[in-house]
Amino acid sequence: MDITTPAPRRRVAIIGAGPGGLAAALAFHHAGHEVRLFERQDAVKPLGGAVLLSLPVLSVLRDMGVDIRELGASGVTEFRNHRGRLRTRLPFNPRAEARAGIPGWHYGMLRSAAIERMLAVMPPGLIHPGKHFARYDEQADSITAHFDDGTRWEADLLVGADGIRSAVARQAFGELGLFHCGIQVWLAWCHCDDVPRGVGWISHSRNVQASFFPILHEGKPAVEWWVVEPWKEGQRFAGDVRTHLTNHLRGWTDPLPRLAAATDFERNCFRWDIYNRPALPSWSKGRVSFVGDAVHPVSPYAAYGMGMAIEDGWWLAKCLEGVDLAQRDALAQGLARYDRQRVGYTNKNAKLARYLGYLFHRTPWPLSALRDVVFDHTRLLEAMLVETYLKDAETQMETLPIAAR
Ligand SMILES: Cc1cc2nc3c(=O)[nH]c(=O)nc-3n(C[C@H](O)[C@H](O)[C@H](O)COP(=O)(O)OP(=O)(O)OC[C@H]3O[C@@H](n4cnc5c(N)ncnc54)[C@H](O)[C@@H]3O)c2cc1C
Repeated sequence: MDITTPAPRRRVAIIGAGPGGLAAALAFHHAGHEVRLFERQDAVKPLGGAVLLSLPVLSVLRDMGVDIRELGASGVTEFRNHRGRLRTRLPFNPRAEARAGIPGWHYGMLRSAAIERMLAVMPPGLIHPGKHFARYDEQADSITAHFDDGTRWEADLLVGADGIRSAVARQAFGELGLFHCGIQVWLAWCHCDDVPRGVGWISHSRNVQASFFPILHEGKPAVEWWVVEPWKEGQRFAGDVRTHLTNHLRGWTDPLPRLAAATDFERNCFRWDIYNRPALPSWSKGRVSFVGDAVHPVSPYAAYGMGMAIEDGWWLAKCLEGVDLAQRDALAQGLARYDRQRVGYTNKNAKLARYLGYLFHRTPWPLSALRDVVFDHTRLLEAMLVETYLKDAETQMETLPIAAR
């Protein structure tokens, strides 16, 4: 891509102020464009529970000026069975660490904390809350976003960052085809003494996952934990959350039962039903492109939904560096570059996450017992995770077009 001549300042409309939209807004703003980020909520609030962000995500956040110091706590990710038996420990990659200038691989934090840091560096006036996107009209040399309140804004590029039920994606590609993955996730965090720092567990019983990871909460050590369980679409949860999760964790090895006991369920726990959509072969159409859940919702297994949304926003602006967004052909070439960079990679991660969801939560007896014997006594799980997830993500880190630290 030719980045010797700076591109003219053009207009970029972004729909949705989640992590993907915030990242795209920062990245296009740094590239010198006039950016408006439209959000349907009346205010953009930092919301959400436990997430793990990996080195490539932290690197692009820092590249956009976000302060990542003490944002999260680093840990080695270990897969175990529910009795605590170690199945595999995800290895660190020294080349990736050196390239990022950040030790480790996964950092545990609250989604809300990461969003707060992104909002802290957002230029004033860029976010337009209370704007519910309704539809767009595309002309040869521009695109106009229309909102429910009757207002509109004309831009050169429209970015759909409006999440899993994306109205922008529905208009661009037709019905979304969302389907329930047969699992739900409980996300919680707490302060709890004597929980080992520097290590996080993803542990499984026959059909439930219970996991924890160290985090920093307002600079202080805390622990995020989560439970993934089989769940049917439309199935209502009617019980008491504390009792439900405490029962799940009965018999699990320490510290998981203690984490439930230490949690303020009223304030620090919420539930999340997991949906996916069929993979799209391309995310760009005319003057519209996408980031995040709008085109690739991810079930929790790659631990990467928020991370990939942030990377998408950064990559979209990066692939359009030096491109005059008003020029239709040049824009199409830049968007094709973006699609090549991201679509295959994220689709692969989403597929892996879905597969692991089926494998760990919906494998019928007696195959589930066989699976557990194999995972407890062989290195198959490690081989699968390295081959299907870690290798590509590390390559991405090692080749990220940012100044080495
Ligand atoms: C509230 C919330 C909490 C979450 N918590 C966790 C968590 O704790 N752990 C975890 O691993 N994952 C969590 N996730 C999922 C994970 O964070 C997602 O993968 C990630 O948020 C995807 O980012 P995104 O920017 O693509 O979409 P989203 O985060 O879904 O953001 C989309 C934004 O678009 C806005 N929007 C939607 N429609 C319109 C419209 N028509 N007009 C204007 N604006 C619109 C929405 O209000 C929202 O702000 C959470 C998601 C949400 C929404």
